[in-house]
Amino acid sequence: MKKFDLAVVGSGIGGSLISILNKDKDLVLFEKDKNLGGTASTFKRFGNYFNTGATTFVGYEDNHILKDIFDSVNFVPDLIESSYAYRTIINGKIIDRKTNFEEFIESLNTVFYHKNNRYFWQTLKDIDERFWRLKDIYFAKYSLNSYLKSLKTIETLFKEYKFLMFKTAKGFIKEVLGDISKDYQNFIDAQLQITLQSTSKDIPLLSFAIALSYPFHKIFYANGGMGKLFDDMLKDINVKNKEQIKYIKKEKDFYRLISSIDEYLASKVVLNMPVFECSEMFWDKDIQNYYKKFKFYDQSAFVIYLKIDSRKEFLNHYQIILNENIPNSVSKTFFVSFSHKDDEKLSKNGYSVTISCHTKALFWDELSNDEYENKKEITKNFILNELFKNFEDIKKEDIKIDFCATSKTFKRYINRFNCGATPLNLKNIFKIPSSITPFENLYNVGDSVFAGQGWPGVALGAKVLNSNLFKNIKGI
Ligand SMILES: Cc1cc2nc3c(=O)[nH]c(=O)nc-3n(C[C@H](O)[C@H](O)[C@H](O)COP(=O)(O)OP(=O)(O)OC[C@H]3O[C@@H](n4cnc5c(N)ncnc54)[C@H](O)[C@@H]3O)c2cc1C
Repeated sequence: MKKFDLAVVGSGIGGSLISILNKDKDLVLFEKDKNLGGTASTFKRFGNYFNTGATTFVGYEDNHILKDIFDSVNFVPDLIESSYAYRTIINGKIIDRKTNFEEFIESLNTVFYHKNNRYFWQTLKDIDERFWRLKDIYFAKYSLNSYLKSLKTIETLFKEYKFLMFKTAKGFIKEVLGDISKDYQNFIDAQLQITLQSTSKDIPLLSFAIALSYPFHKIFYANGGMGKLFDDMLKDINVKNKEQIKYIKKEKDFYRLISSIDEYLASKVVLNMPVFECSEMFWDKDIQNYYKKFKFYDQSAFVIYLKIDSRKEFLNHYQIILNENIPNSVSKTFFVSFSHKDDEKLSKNGYSVTISCHTKALFWDELSNDEYENKKEITKNFILNELFKNFEDIKKEDIKIDFCATSKTFKRYINRFNCGATPLNLKNIFKIPSSITPFENLYNVGDSVFAGQGWPGVALGAKVLNSNLFKNIKGI
């Protein structure tokens, strides 16, 4: 039987980036679903296309990780740049998170005026810019050498940020803005929810700055759906979609992978599913036990997909902040993404809309069919009601298609109950799994390992992994 240099299991952001970075190797990429891209895929239903989860693309600019990676493999993504990251609507008031700093500050000051707003947001922006310019970020565990190299990253960060590194988000808010209103705090926390799934209560200033600054970067809409990026990126890769890896067995100097269709051998394996889903695949007890020890991070997403027939113009993204929690959710906010009006694939027959909010996998577990459907209906109707209140241009009769997804749907299609990364906060920074495992030639990539979720977070983890994979230390 043929032995591959590398088998990648999963075509999410992490698995796909690792595949293109190693396209010169003899590799095979397995994807259980029909569509490529996992949480960032695009799927077809009732004759129309919808983005599964991720809708915004950030990081394609000089000195930023995704541009570096794509340039290194000569891949030019099909993107449409936008001057808005998103519009926040809070109690009917609008704050535009525009990429232009001055325009953002002006918009912010009309709603939450503070004489120190400029200093506060400028400091966060500077911290973020300096972070993405650092070239040698490293995070790994399980060998003395790895720990030493990870410590070196801390030293690099310390050299760059000095004592700013030890500041907390909460302390910085208090120091610069003092006691802010509940609404301003909600505005800040709602944005942290998008990128970090955490509030400002217990995170370091560094993560806080990076999370809040993503709208200052170039923001893009993926033309033809987020999933098209994966189809384009992986077109020369040996991809086996609709083929799930069911079991993996470690042999003397290779791994045996048993799929729903066939059996394969590979010298190295990169797993792209969350670490919580890995143990059951292995026959080896020690590998099973390694994966079992990661505590399940019970954050997930509730997503509504709509087809809206309207001639009105919308921005690509909106964040709605409410005064009360959404039922069966863990937050007061939901995020609404419209397909670009010029997107011939997604905007055919009207806008394709993806609405998401945070929930817990546990909320949707162990329910009878009726209970489950009922819960979904309550949550969907609550959100749609708030959508109509916040968008007077959308009427009930404009909605031609609506359906929704919970953690159970995500498990069925992309094999994960949880959606989202364990937040990198002060308490658990050293508990975050690294892409390097204690087992030779077995690796993880994706949003459940360092550095976390979203295009830039997963890409940073893929870059760290890639520098170890074939000991290509100098490469991307
Ligand atoms: C609702 C929502 C909205 C989001 N919005 C954004 C956004 O706007 N911008 C952004 O940057 N990020 C966003 N994110 C975060 C981002 O989508 C994720 O962090 C990222 O896509 C996760 O990538 P991953 O590499 O961990 O892979 P995953 O997305 O988890 O993909 C893993 C893949 O592996 C496959 N797989 C699993 N098991 C097997 C197996 N045994 N055999 C074969 N294949 C297998 C799955 O089918 C899947 O395709 C959002 C997330 C959610 C949930």
